[in-house]
Amino acid sequence: MSERKRILITGAAGFLGSNLCDMFIEKDYHVIGMDNLITGRMENIEHLFKLENFEFYHHDVSKFIHVPGKLDYILHFASPASPIDYLKIPIQTLKVGSLGIHNCLGLAKAKNARVLIASTSEVYGDPEVHPQTEEYWGHVNPVGPRGVYDEAKRFQEAMTMAYHTFHGVETRIVRIFNTYGPRMRLNDGRVLPAFIGQALRGEDLTVFGDGSQTRSFCYVDDLLDGIYRLLHSDYAHPVNIGNPSEITIREFADEIIQLTGTTQKVIYKELPVNDPKQRRPDITKAQEILGWEPKIDRAEGLKRTYEYFKSLSDEELNRSSHNNFDKYITR
Ligand code: UDP
Repeated sequence: MSERKRILITGAAGFLGSNLCDMFIEKDYHVIGMDNLITGRMENIEHLFKLENFEFYHHDVSKFIHVPGKLDYILHFASPASPIDYLKIPIQTLKVGSLGIHNCLGLAKAKNARVLIASTSEVYGDPEVHPQTEEYWGHVNPVGPRGVYDEAKRFQEAMTMAYHTFHGVETRIVRIFNTYGPRMRLNDGRVLPAFIGQALRGEDLTVFGDGSQTRSFCYVDDLLDGIYRLLHSDYAHPVNIGNPSEITIREFADEIIQLTGTTQKVIYKELPVNDPKQRRPDITKAQEILGWEPKIDRAEGLKRTYEYFKSLSDEELNRSSHNNFDKYITR
């Protein structure tokens, strides 16, 4: 039997990180998960602790990373990812995208490992080009409330390309568009858990602005497939992975009302500052280079996600509006 590939996944206890851990365990990799648990949840990876091909480090990747032994791959997925998270912890958001990736790339150089970084459609900001192609440079306000996330991710891409061109490190960049599925945090503030949580608690659904802004939602399994293909491709430039099926937030609220059968109504709240008006990936590159396209439509993906949220305990459902993570923060 050939030796298992060893992969380090930062942000392992988060929504995407934990789903990635599962995928690579299933593919018989040796998975080393790392998380400082600021926004990640141990419940997401508890089931892996009994496995001999899983290890976990409770560590902040903004600090020097030491991993003994060989490493074949590093996936950098650590970062607060929802607007209310990065508004609450802006400095940590900047640090994990900048110091964190620097540490990952240094580790990759030392271990001769390939790095894949989680970038984001937020590098396009409030886009003036629609749909967004990888060639578009974006429209980001560096000093707006989202700047801490957007600029950290943009810096992360720049740093990654520099390690690629200057040090010859093998790098991959995935630009992830709105993704949803089991293990999103019910109280993370993003629109899907917000609406489903509200429906389950019997509250009105809060649409921000007039709800005419659009998003394009990709089911997590499709994203994982795209990431796997990109990791094993030889393409070092950014690739959009997302589902081009675009919907207004108002229509999305109606879909959640239908799905959950809630009798509550939609109420309108103020639109957050710099909230992008439109977002849809152009996935031509992913199709051509990776032979990838999404397979799970919104109706199916939402059904699966709703089942997950329904299975959570009442305590979890009613937990106050946000995780109490202050105690974990190292300043
Ligand atoms: N949104 C909303 N109600 C909510 C939460 C979010 O109408 O309770 C809107 C938000 O203003 C944005 C869209 O839904 O236009 C998607 O927001 P999310 O935070 O999920 O992600 P974003 O794509 O903005 O990063």
